[in-house]
Amino acid sequence: MSQDFNIVVLPGDGIGIEVIDAALAVLDAAQARHGFKLEFDRRPGGAHHYKDTGEAFPAASMQASRNADAILFGAMGWPDIRYPDGTEIAPQLDLRVELDLYAGVRPIRAIPGLPLPLAAARAKDIDFVIVRESTEGWFHARGRSVMGKSASGDEAVHDMAEITRKGCERLFDFSFRLARSRKARNAAKGKVTCIDKSNVFLGMAFMNRVFHERAAQNTDIVADHCYIDAYCLNLIRKPWEYDVCPMENQFGDITSDLGAGLICGMGYAPSADVGDNHAVFQPSHGSAPDIAGRGIANPTATILSAAMMLDWLAERHARPALAAAARSIEGAVDQSFAHGKVRPADIGGTDGTAAVTRAVIDALV
Ligand code: ATP
Repeated sequence: MSQDFNIVVLPGDGIGIEVIDAALAVLDAAQARHGFKLEFDRRPGGAHHYKDTGEAFPAASMQASRNADAILFGAMGWPDIRYPDGTEIAPQLDLRVELDLYAGVRPIRAIPGLPLPLAAARAKDIDFVIVRESTEGWFHARGRSVMGKSASGDEAVHDMAEITRKGCERLFDFSFRLARSRKARNAAKGKVTCIDKSNVFLGMAFMNRVFHERAAQNTDIVADHCYIDAYCLNLIRKPWEYDVCPMENQFGDITSDLGAGLICGMGYAPSADVGDNHAVFQPSHGSAPDIAGRGIANPTATILSAAMMLDWLAERHARPALAAAARSIEGAVDQSFAHGKVRPADIGGTDGTAAVTRAVIDALV
């Protein structure tokens, strides 16, 4: 079988390496069943690579990522390894800017059978997507902080946000398209809720105005709005009412973790950073130094991210076999947890990375 797609694989640091190996094993099994061929091109990068070589993300890794059909990413960063200015090693942020990956897609879906933290019966219906704008907002300040008056710079620091029309338009257009395809695929609500703080910040009011402009061109989808503070309240009280939720970069960063908490933790939260020409697929979690190297990292988020990659490739290249493989992987994950076959450490069980991976592979159809 000839190679269909070139996938750059960036395992990175800590549990990133462990969960990537798990996802590759599942992809190998899925492609054998569904008749396509991915070529995996493993590349270095991350905090430990920086420690060893003085370079966080080699130019060759960036070039390979640019040329790849898709990028599968583990996690990069390590608390004790930092740049001289004290900031963490985060090549994933550079990749987002470099490849213009403006939409951070973070599905929050309750896998049937998981012991969800919310007691409400409807918690099992949780199925929404945070779309985090990933190229501007408050993260625009990264590397651009303006020091206050004193020479030592410790009087004040100004971290300025940036909100642009282009950034808003493409974020909202992406969100309306996503709501439409979710509605077609799984009878989702067909609703986009713009999350902002437009009652306080002019940038956010501008963002909200652009949202309503784009909503007027997508009238088949319900356009809804919620302030970020009320949204946090609602994520605990009635998260099942949301569908697609676009928001500013920093808000998306924070609420992604809150969302993951609703579905039993970071080990269940996949993500994709998508642009018009490139996309990176990775779990929402980081390198988790506290559990790294112990074989207990939950690979589910990364396995589901790999399924998102197959969906993205299927749509871009009109290859339904890859979409079928994505459904098969999602179904296998659901099967594994629904029947209590696996109970990873993060929900109080004893199954490690290998056991969860094996269960998913065995349940593939
Ligand atoms: P970052 O700062 O990049 O968000 P982090 O390493 O500080 O990363 P995370 O990795 O996101 O934090 O996760 C926080 C905690 O959640 C970890 O310390 C770990 O205990 C747990 N955790 C994260 N991912 C997993 C996983 N895949 N399986 C099990 N537990 C996980």
